[in-house]
Amino acid sequence: MILHSLGCRLNEAELEEWARGFQARGIALAAPDEPAALAVVNTCAVTEEAVRKSRKLLRRLQREHPGARLVVSGCLATLEAESLAREAGVDLLVANAEKDRLVEIVSAELDLALMPESATEPAGDALFARGRQRAFVKVQDGCRYQCTFCITTRARGAERSRPVPEVVAAIRRLNAAGIREVVLSGVHLGGYGSDLGEAVDLGALIGAILAETDIERLRLGSLEPWDLPANFWALFENPRLMPHLHLPVQSGSERVLRRMARRCRADAFLALADEGRARVAGLNITTDIIAGFPGETDDDWRDTLALAEQVGFGQIHLFAYSPRAGTRAATLPDQLPPEIKRARIAELQALAERSRRALLRAQIGQRVEVLCERAPEGSSATPGAGYTPNYLPVAIQPAPGRPMAPNDLLWLGLQDVDEASGRLIGVLASD
Ligand code: SF4
Repeated sequence: MILHSLGCRLNEAELEEWARGFQARGIALAAPDEPAALAVVNTCAVTEEAVRKSRKLLRRLQREHPGARLVVSGCLATLEAESLAREAGVDLLVANAEKDRLVEIVSAELDLALMPESATEPAGDALFARGRQRAFVKVQDGCRYQCTFCITTRARGAERSRPVPEVVAAIRRLNAAGIREVVLSGVHLGGYGSDLGEAVDLGALIGAILAETDIERLRLGSLEPWDLPANFWALFENPRLMPHLHLPVQSGSERVLRRMARRCRADAFLALADEGRARVAGLNITTDIIAGFPGETDDDWRDTLALAEQVGFGQIHLFAYSPRAGTRAATLPDQLPPEIKRARIAELQALAERSRRALLRAQIGQRVEVLCERAPEGSSATPGAGYTPNYLPVAIQPAPGRPMAPNDLLWLGLQDVDEASGRLIGVLASD
């Protein structure tokens, strides 16, 4: 079997869940050069480009694995089901609304029993088999908002949350299988619990995970900067909750934010960032910004630059606005030419790089715990790789006589910044 996911971390979290589900049925991942009998793709359709990439991947898989049964799920399978169903080679479509039952549906529809599969392996291995140590855990799906550039809200539907005990049990299983770090993932993570009754929200979920599991490192996936639980900042007093937040602001201009129908004003975002920095030591705030939204003036753009300068983001994911058919923004007047988008992207990229380097340099001299994701190779003096608790990349230096392995939690001294790779240089701290 081969599994592919495109797009967001939620797609990745679902894919990991499918890998475990198939594994529990004795269906393991095919080796890279092995012909597969089953191919499952979690597609993305967030932009026209993402649609093009999803379709290209389906064609490539059909070429490379002509004997495989092809199962297509995700946002493209949901938004363009009819055209995909007509496509040769697609054996089964599973829409987003059904995807949590994908393994069951595929087993029933494609009579999986026929496949010669290897013996069942413990739960965590699927991730390790893919060379990964950090598990994405889906806790929420769907979104009640209608940002004008966003197609996800249509593809993913209404908000629905995985009950707290189910999430706790899933994380316990992962931890028992050796996973030490998990990332809670959703479409509108802040909306967690909106369908589960008054007392349940993201704060309650995080609290339960920290109290009822032994997971060493808990991270939050992308989080819209609103609908945050009342006790949000207090949760970070627990050192197992990692001090990194990805808060998509999208623009620094109040006028553009209104045209985007965003629920967080620029001044409210600045206040949120300030409060977070005051309450959580070493908090790293990263974000998404769209450049060139329809009607964005030079003054609007200056507001965005000013906000980015003021916050000093650890990283900015930059997107040149591209009209997505089916969204309101795609029909807005004053669509901007590509050269303006390119110029704005270049300008903000330079600012973002300055902020990032300043944040990296501010870590020098600290002693932090890093999850080793790739071990250093002593023989070739090749550094290993991992992330600090506040999600900054570290080049882990080899230490003669002190072997390190993937998934080790290592205390490292942060000695410098490797300007070439933009990573912190981490040296094993003396015990
Ligand atoms: S909050 Fe806005 S951008 Fe985020 S998923 Fe919902 S509609 Fe899309």
